[in-house]
This record gives sequence, structure tokens and C-alpha cells, in this order.
Amino acid sequence: MTKYFFILILFFSNVSANELLNITFLGTGTPRPNINKLGPSVLVKVKNEEIMLDVGRGTTLRLNQIGNNYSKINNIYISHLHFDHIVGVPDFWLTSNLWQKKTDTNIFGPVGIKNFCKGLRQSYEKDFEYRYSGNTHSKIICHNYSEKKIIKNNFLEVKIFKNNHGHIENSHGFKIIYNNKSIVYSGDTTYSKEVVKNAKNCDILIHEVIATSKKMRDNNKKLRSVISTHTTISQLSKILNESNPKLTILNHALLFGVSEKFVLNEIKESYDGKVIFSKDMMSVDLGDEINVFNIGN
Ligand SMILES: [Zn+2]
Ligand SMILES: [Zn+2]
Repeated sequence: MTKYFFILILFFSNVSANELLNITFLGTGTPRPNINKLGPSVLVKVKNEEIMLDVGRGTTLRLNQIGNNYSKINNIYISHLHFDHIVGVPDFWLTSNLWQKKTDTNIFGPVGIKNFCKGLRQSYEKDFEYRYSGNTHSKIICHNYSEKKIIKNNFLEVKIFKNNHGHIENSHGFKIIYNNKSIVYSGDTTYSKEVVKNAKNCDILIHEVIATSKKMRDNNKKLRSVISTHTTISQLSKILNESNPKLTILNHALLFGVSEKFVLNEIKESYDGKVIFSKDMMSVDLGDEINVFNIGN
């Protein structure tokens, strides 16, 4: 059943319903398997155009839940090549052919994406031979970001920028622009000036976060190194104060021994803007107002 969260009235003007930007969180998790928080993937829609940011574990299951047959998803943007952000790509591609997708799918990603796609084609060669021998099928066409930094779809413009994911050299965030509206997706990153610059006064900032209890941090060396590649609560507060988004949605949250409520309370200490956590199947309309719906349970 649709559950209504809240409405933020931001300003008033007339924008028709089909001009609304919609964000649907297909998966809000991390590499750790969790049935309630599948792998990271965000669907952004306007008019008849749909793009997807990252394709984590279980993306096709969530697409099925919202009744999406992929026919409009022709452009996918991958933030980086950690497996949690790409493991759903083959499932999406293979299933799109079951649904008889008529168009090919562009997959934009960092250096290495072409090899990834080449590997997928080889890995599933037999399946295609068995199912579509002699018949045409929907293909994946893969592009490196080094070739383009701003990609214009029919309506949505996607700006790709480098973030700061520790030793991961080719990791990116995205700024999605439509008319005078903008959504920024941080990707996996620690504090990044590029994220701040791009998120300055944006409508919606989708940002990752990591938070741990002191005990877990003190007792786990591996965890301390993971922390250095993600965004801590104090870094996040700095980012939000510097960028001032209208709404911040915390996503890809790595929480160890602390709750979402703890994180929100900590942020509140030094930032008074609106901050919420994402959840799978949460949907956000961005128009004159920002409306957040939870179309899950
Ligand atoms: Zn990740
Ligand atoms: Zn990562």
C-alpha cells in the first residue's frame, strides 16, 4: 500500500505532471546481502525517458515489483566497478531479452567497462546461442567516461564527475539536470570537493554514509580502512553545510553498530536542513514541490 511520507513545499509555479522528475530507489544497500536493502540502483524518470544509476544485486526484482519492463531504460550510468554496483548488469541485459526489449542498452562507465561488457558477452554466449540463434536481440553497448563528461539524453542531462573513493581511481558521481532541477548522486566516496561543488544548492542530494560504534571501529582494522574510503557523519555534515541541498537522501549506508536514527541525530547537531534515509522502493517526485512516497510496505 502506498504510504505517504511528507511534502516539502519549496516554491510555487505551474509545472505539469509529466514534467515531474521521479526518482525510484530500486536498491539502497551495500555489498552485504540484505533482502530489505538490495544492491545500489536508482531509476530516474522524466516524461517517457528512464535512466538507471548503478545496477546492483536484485535490480530486476525491484523493476518487476514496480511493473517496469525495461523498454524505456536505454541508458545506464555506472559509478565505479566495485561489484555491488554492477553485479545486476548481466541479469538486466539477459532479462531484457526475455521481455523482448526492442532497443539496445547503452552502458556508460569508467575505464574497464568495455572489458566488463566483453566478458559478459563471452560468459553468456551459449545462452544467446540457445535462445536467439539467428534472431536479433537487444545488445549492450558500452562506453568509457573518458570519452564524454556530459551526456545528453532526450531530456535528462547527466554530468559525470570524479569523486574520492580512496584508492579506487575511477570512481564517479553524477549530476542529473532537467530544466532548472538537479539531482546529485555522490556514488561511493569519502569527502569530495567535486561532490560539494556539483551539489551546491541542488534540489536533491543522494549521498552515501558510513558510521560505526567506537567499539567496532577500535577492534577492527579492516573496518578502519573501509571508513577511509567512505563518508563519515562529520564529513557529511560539512558537505551538507557547504552545499545546502533542498533535500538530502542518505543511501548506500554502511552502518556498523549504530542505527539510522543515531546518524540523523548526529547530523542534526550541526546541520538543520532536511535529511532522510533512502529505502528500497521509495519514490520521490521532484517538481514545484518534493514529494516522498514509500511504495513498499
Ligand atoms: Zn558500493
Ligand atoms: Zn565502492
